[in-house]
This record gives sequence, C-alpha cells and structure tokens, in this order.
Amino acid sequence: MRKRITIFGATGSIGENTVDLLTRQGGAEVYDVVALSGGRNVARLAEQAKALRASLAVTAFPECYEDLKAALAGSGVEAAAGPQALIEAADRPSDWIMSAIVGAAGLVPGMRALRHGTTLALANKESLVTAGPLLMATARANGARILPVDSEHSAVFQALAGEDIDAVERIIITASGGAFRDWPQEDIARATPEQASSHPNWAMGQRITVDSASMFNKALELIETKEYFGIDPGRIEAVVHPESLVHALVGFRDGGIMAHVGPPDMRHAIGYALNWPNRAELPVARLDLAEIGRLTFRPACETRWPALRLARLVMAQGGLSGAVFNGAKERALDAFLDRRIGFLQMNDVVEASLEVLSDHIVHSDTVMDLDVILHTDHLAREAAEGVISRLHAA
Ligand code: NAD
Ligand code: MG
Repeated sequence: MRKRITIFGATGSIGENTVDLLTRQGGAEVYDVVALSGGRNVARLAEQAKALRASLAVTAFPECYEDLKAALAGSGVEAAAGPQALIEAADRPSDWIMSAIVGAAGLVPGMRALRHGTTLALANKESLVTAGPLLMATARANGARILPVDSEHSAVFQALAGEDIDAVERIIITASGGAFRDWPQEDIARATPEQASSHPNWAMGQRITVDSASMFNKALELIETKEYFGIDPGRIEAVVHPESLVHALVGFRDGGIMAHVGPPDMRHAIGYALNWPNRAELPVARLDLAEIGRLTFRPACETRWPALRLARLVMAQGGLSGAVFNGAKERALDAFLDRRIGFLQMNDVVEASLEVLSDHIVHSDTVMDLDVILHTDHLAREAAEGVISRLHAA
C-alpha cells in the first residue's frame, strides 16, 4: 500500500528537507501526499503541493487564503486556511505525519493527529516541552507512534534500538554552543538579532538558530529527553561539542557508551523517521574520520547559559512548568528579535515568568488536559509580556 503523508510546516527548514527526501524517494509516484501546511509563503507552498500532487494545502493564516487559492488555481489541489483548517488536515487519514510547525502552534495539530493513531514524526519539540505527559499519553491511548526528529533524540532513539531502557545509566545530548560559543561573556549581553541568527554548523529556521545561541534550544531538548524517553532528569546531561558530529550518547549500566555520529544534516534524522523501521540510502555526506582528526567536548556551563539551569528547574517541577517555560521563552524571543530586550534578558524573562506563575504551576499539576495547557501557554505569554514591558521601560 502507498504510504499516505502529511507535512505540517512544509515550507520551513525541516519541511523543505522532508519534501526534498520525499521527492528523491519517488515523490507523487510513490507516496500519497494528503496535506501540506505552511505559513505566509503561499507561493512555495503551492509549488510543493503541485509537485507532490497533494490533495490539500493549508496556510495557517486566513489572510493568505486568497493568494493560496490563486496560486493553486487549476491544479486540482484544494486550498484551506486558518487554525481550524489545520485541525481538519490532521483529521484526514494519513500514515506518516511530519510535525514541523515552529513553536507551540504545532501542539494542536500534532495532538489531533495522534488521536487517529498515526505515526507522528516529531520535529516540533515545543509540543513535548509544553505538553509532554499529555502527548505521550494520547499516543499510547490511541496506538499512535511518535518518532523523534530532533537530531539528538533521533540519535538516542537509534542508540536504544534493541536495548532495555532500564539498563540506561545516562543520556548525554550534545550542544554546538551556537553563535556565541567562543564570545567573551561580557560581549554576549550586547549581541544583536543578526549576530544571534547565524549558526556555525547547522542551517535551520531563525527561531531555533537564536535558541541555539542562547542554549534555550538545548534547554528545550533536555526537557524533551525527559518527556520522550521517560528518564529521570538526574540521568540527562548536556555537553558542548563544537564539531556537531556526535549528536548524542547513551551510557549503559555496564559502562558502555553508544554514540551516534554523523554530519550535521537534518535529512539523516528526517529520513530515519520516514523510512523507519527500515533504513534507506540517504543523501547525507559520509564522514572521513581520519580527515576530521579529532572530536572535542567541553562542559555545558549553567552559569554561562542560564537556560540550562532553568531547564533543570522545569524538569524537577514537572506538570505545567514546561508550558510556562516554553510560552515565556517564545515571547522573550519575539521581544529580543524586536529589539525590546537584550540577549541575556531572555533568561530573566523566562525565570521571572516561572516565578510569577509558580502557584498556577503547582496547583494545577494534576489536571493536564489540552485546555489547561493552552490556557497556561496564554498566561505564560502574558506574564512574560509584563516582565518585558518593565525591562523595556527601565
Ligand atoms: P521554520 O521557521 O523554518 O519553519 C516553520 C514552519 O512552520 C513554516 O512552514 C511556517 O510557515 C510554519 N509556521 C510558522 N508559524 C506558524 C503558525 N503560527 N501556525 C502554523 N504554522 C506556522 O522552522 P524550522 O527550523 O523548520 O523548525 C520547525 C520545528 O522543528 C521547530 O519546532 C524546531 O524547533 C524543530 N527543529 C528544527 C530543526 C532544524 O534543523 N531546522 C532541528 C531540530 C528541530
Ligand atoms: Mg536538536
């Protein structure tokens, strides 16, 4: 049977890489592409939908509907727009759904897809950070499967194949260190959005690139590791590895460590999830280890990168603190990109938001449904906005 495919966030960095792999693996000749979603770049979305002969293309933004419809005229691809259309796309039967919307906006379509018992290839780490227990429980209850696409988590997943999770002593995820890895600490406070938006090793969307520079990306990934693998936070470590060739390591109780090594190319992790449980030939560079010569590692310092310390706090608190952490982080990132706050103040905004909402986090710990989570995300953004306004006025 032909595999039915849906991609949320098809026009983004992960989405484009997914489309590239699908095309190389035969495109519309091999796959039934059910739906593709995108944002404001409707020209590109329409191009993808036509090339892959998708049934449906959805822009997340209602104001882009007419443009999308015009771009698809005569193609036979149906056009739709808005959050409800994303949900309806998730309701269309599909065997493999890529969740690659950026931010908490990916949560609702992803949750919806899981309810249909599909396989969800999850790049959207924000949904696991915001609603990890709910997402995992929804997958279990509906016989759905979540396959990690974040490179570190794909690496851990691969290192765990055939292993007993109880034999795992530690999971170590690597961090490139981002744009400011080698900057003196005192310069980082004055970093601009342009400087934070270039990554030494990976080509990614702007938001995750800035999150790499601040280590909020790694903070999200520590939480993602806890939620996805169900492992005690004390067993999860981060280490800085400037070459970005070792993506993660799993240490077992007998002292052995399995490391996953490969070039910094997301098409490996995406292709692994696309072809799982098989392995297909993928267009990623083959490493010449003798030429590389050495791999280096340094401590991931929680003083230099406060986001890592905040991730520890969130993992210890559990419950709704992940939703507060992510929502506040997204708002703080907007404010940094808008030049309303400085680079390091993103940490202050998130920490203060967690404090402001500490009662909410504690008291609603047991009620983890989607409405409570979305409400918490909203409260977090509001709390963050309050802190940002004060910082901006100061
Ligand atoms: P991106 O910004 O390049 O693309 C985001 C996609 O989401 C686009 O298609 C955009 O149109 C869509 N989108 C944006 N806002 C939306 C909204 N409000 N509602 C619906 N759709 C919206 O992002 P990316 O770098 O591809 O990252 C996507 C996800 O994958 C993120 O969760 C990111 O953390 C994760 N991820 C990315 C990489 C990478 O290499 N880029 C690696 C690991 C994990
Ligand atoms: Mg990653």
